[in-house]
Amino acid sequence: MWSLHQAYIDGAFVSVQGSERLDVANPATERVIGTVTLANREDAKRAIDAANRAQPAMAASTRAQRIEMLGRLEAAVLARTDQIRDATIEEYGGPLSRSQWVSNYASQCFASTALMLKDYAFERRMGEATVMMEPVGVAGLIAPWNSAAGSICSKLASAIAAGCASVVKPSELGPLQAQVVTEALHDAGLPAGAVNVLLGRGIDVGDEISTSPGIAKISFTGSTQTGKLIARAGLETMKRVSLALSGKSATVVLDDADLATVLPMALNAAFMNNGQACVAGTRLLIPASRMQEAIGHLRAAAAAMRVGDPRDAATAVGPLASRAQFERVQRFIRRGLAQGATLVAGGEGRPKGFDKGWFVRPTVFADVHNDMDIAREEIFGPVLSVIGYGDEDEAVAIANDSPYGLQAYVFSSQPQRALRVASRLLVGSVLVNRIAPELIAPFGGFKQSGIGREFGLFGMEAFLEPKTIAL
Ligand code: NAD
Repeated sequence: MWSLHQAYIDGAFVSVQGSERLDVANPATERVIGTVTLANREDAKRAIDAANRAQPAMAASTRAQRIEMLGRLEAAVLARTDQIRDATIEEYGGPLSRSQWVSNYASQCFASTALMLKDYAFERRMGEATVMMEPVGVAGLIAPWNSAAGSICSKLASAIAAGCASVVKPSELGPLQAQVVTEALHDAGLPAGAVNVLLGRGIDVGDEISTSPGIAKISFTGSTQTGKLIARAGLETMKRVSLALSGKSATVVLDDADLATVLPMALNAAFMNNGQACVAGTRLLIPASRMQEAIGHLRAAAAAMRVGDPRDAATAVGPLASRAQFERVQRFIRRGLAQGATLVAGGEGRPKGFDKGWFVRPTVFADVHNDMDIAREEIFGPVLSVIGYGDEDEAVAIANDSPYGLQAYVFSSQPQRALRVASRLLVGSVLVNRIAPELIAPFGGFKQSGIGREFGLFGMEAFLEPKTIAL
């Protein structure tokens, strides 16, 4: 049993003033594994003050100094890769391969940002003006529980590269992951106050960050619902706001695709991270002419997916993060049935042989219409909706008929044809014949999936403000 009751403020771990305690359970066993005492608004104010004291030196730091800081962060986080992976598994049941990937990414993002920074033009001539890209000021970095380490580190890499001190608020539902990452950040030995981390509720710590005049910029990853609250809260002080939000991604399988090859990838895209991924491809668009064949593949592949202990490399789907997530998914499965979708695999309840843990059955629905709730709302669990289409135009229309626009997947044996379809999709990223992202290219959403971009050059520019000097 661990017990966490400190925030990281001004270069030191300090006891929080907040008094609310939360028990944290391992979702595979439902056993309590630790407790955390949450920070409160006063703690947030202290962290914001510390970041403001650090900001002038951060803004004045040279490119070389920032690259050096990123290098130290990379080394410190790399040294804790295994701990980050284990915390991810223990705290929210992330399957081994995914948890390993997230923990590797947590250090790699510092390296790739440093590489990009080497050649970035902070100053450019435009006509008779010099345009200087200046740090926007102290940043509030607010992260979700489902990709805690990756989200914290990637935002931080961009902020440091731009010369911004930060106040980081990881999700109160991911304290162990946050603690391991924070210890690594401390090991990196950055100037005091350059990075501050505190765990607290959105309604007080999150709201303090979103409303404080001491914060110039918010970089938020989480649900669309919370993103709207943050955007509204930040308006009064005219904060620059980047929002990486919810998704309901479409996977478009074109009629020339080899189903035996692409459907396992499509299932992985849908069920990655136990279905708790913003980029999960949860609407699978299949040509009507190949529907029966596709259903056959999906039924067999979903049934063969191993549900179980997330520490086991053979496990494809681990437990959902919490009882709340489990119940949410059950509600959606019931709604899918009530609205007339046909169950192809999975269904309500735990899989056979499980009487505890937040395990659900990997579920595939066929005969889904794009106006059903299971096709419109982000479920955040392993539930896939298969939707038929007639021709390419209809596939594009269905894919685009969503309030969200985060990511899409296109599968075809003709890359040029896939590219043509990709260019018509209203989403921030399209992955063609692959499900692995390109992590130095911009990432973010169209429509209600967000505002702004993260990663690489675009990610850093979100923390910069252009200043024009004409003489
Ligand atoms: P959430 O919106 O509930 O919480 C995210 C963070 O916001 C947490 O740290 C939370 O404490 C904080 N928060 C809550 N209310 C707040 C408020 N009023 N003011 C300030 N902060 C507040 O999201 P979650 O459940 O942690 O994460 C899952 C969601 O995140 C899903 O919708 C998923 O799609 C999305 N997500 C998006 C991306 C992306 O890159 N687009 C990546 C991961 C997750």
